[in-house]
Amino acid sequence: MTLNTFIDLVYLLAAIGFILALKGLSSPKHARNGNLLGAAAAAVAVGFTFAYPSVRAHTLNLVLTLAAMVIGAAIAVPAARKVKMTAMPQMVAIFNGVGGGAAALISVVVFLIDAPGKPAVYRIAEVLFGVLVGCVSFSGSAIAFAKLQELMTGRPVTYPAQQVINAVVGVAIVSLAIGTLVTGSVPLLVATALLSLVLGVIFVLPIGGADVPVLISLLNSFTGLAVAASGFTLNNNLLIIAGTLVGASGILLTRMMSKAMGRSLANVLFSAFGSVVTATGGADGSGETRTVKTGTPEDIGVLLAYARKVVIIPGYGLAVAQAQHTARELADLLMERGVEVFYAIHPVAGRMPGHMNVLLAEANVPYDELKEMDEANPEMATADVALVVGANDTVNPAAKNTPGSPIYGMPIINADEAENIVFLKRSMRPGFAGIDNDLLFDDKTTLLFGDAKDTLAKLVAAVKDA
Ligand code: NDP
Repeated sequence: MTLNTFIDLVYLLAAIGFILALKGLSSPKHARNGNLLGAAAAAVAVGFTFAYPSVRAHTLNLVLTLAAMVIGAAIAVPAARKVKMTAMPQMVAIFNGVGGGAAALISVVVFLIDAPGKPAVYRIAEVLFGVLVGCVSFSGSAIAFAKLQELMTGRPVTYPAQQVINAVVGVAIVSLAIGTLVTGSVPLLVATALLSLVLGVIFVLPIGGADVPVLISLLNSFTGLAVAASGFTLNNNLLIIAGTLVGASGILLTRMMSKAMGRSLANVLFSAFGSVVTATGGADGSGETRTVKTGTPEDIGVLLAYARKVVIIPGYGLAVAQAQHTARELADLLMERGVEVFYAIHPVAGRMPGHMNVLLAEANVPYDELKEMDEANPEMATADVALVVGANDTVNPAAKNTPGSPIYGMPIINADEAENIVFLKRSMRPGFAGIDNDLLFDDKTTLLFGDAKDTLAKLVAAVKDA
């Protein structure tokens, strides 16, 4: 067996590792192992790439590659360790964008190497695909990062003749790409790359902050496809497989997220959702006159302690407050008293898919205490208390009852069906979608204002005293 064949076999094993890793990542129980397996497969694949005689022959390239890897690791490892869970979407955006940019650059470099004799049309097509998709992913991810990091407005940015401008840029890119395909011209390829960067920016600008995580998943899929294209360009089977896996899983995740928000992907991408904020903000002093019922930790502690069934509904606020450990403490305490307790998990609670699962896993909440929305909803009508911890949009009945509401059609956790509803939040401010929540004003609802970690700690003390 030649060395190259041996390396290809190792690549095959790595590819199987990636597939099994994705399988593992699809359930909270196996996600950690899936992640480790994926990382190990990637390390093996990268390591064996250095064994190729053609790679070892170029000492300068080797030194440059290793230097880039060291610099990359020095930036990425501390960044990934320090990042707050709530800032994870923008971290994914930036890592993803860099991946897309790298794939585009590789395609350009290969084209420049091939350029002196006009490369075959299929080679140019591979390069063009990698450049176009990689550049859109790079600049689109950069804008997505800026929106989520609040370096610019998170609202959809719209301007006159937006669609016309987008169409003109699209047509110009197609024309330049055809020109590159026919002539093999380097300047035309560079012009295609530059306009693709512009397309990435104008594609993302009209997408509102609340929809950006979905967009990031889509751009992630684009990066995968750009990597697969550079795999064809470099004749590297593993890049083709890994890129395709990222492309396919990214698009599946995008569809699942859109579905969980009750919207089509086209609506997420093109409706400028969130450009109009419909919330009045109530107690913020912005016009809401309806009254709400607030409670003391002691009252709510008694309600919880003597309940039969309590459903904890976590949302983004749980992540902001880092209250997962205190939530678990409260749940454990109630269970010790014989109360039936489970957590109802909405698929888009928080700011990324699986956000709540990851947080609660960090607090060692057993998996069998977590119920997905479809499993939890039939039980909501028999719950004595729905304890909403930093969730808002994902329990907003406007999604069921108010045609015309921006979230109408989004499946929600039916907290409104419980006998009592307790909201732990800091103010009357709305959630990510920027719309009012009538459930806050419901007769069955009691509010306990404050940071969720503090209020949960007070509830723990109150239940102990009850
Ligand atoms: P929301 O964003 O609707 O609401 C979060 C609530 O938490 C707010 O009302 C806020 O109120 C409260 N809060 C914030 N900080 C704290 C704190 N420290 N202590 C207590 N409460 C706090 O969250 P949901 O999880 O219900 O909904 C997620 C939203 O994100 C949905 O609109 C979803 O469509 C969207 N989204 C989610 C994605 C995902 O993959 N998860 C992807 C794309 C969008 P206050 O400020 O008054 O405290």
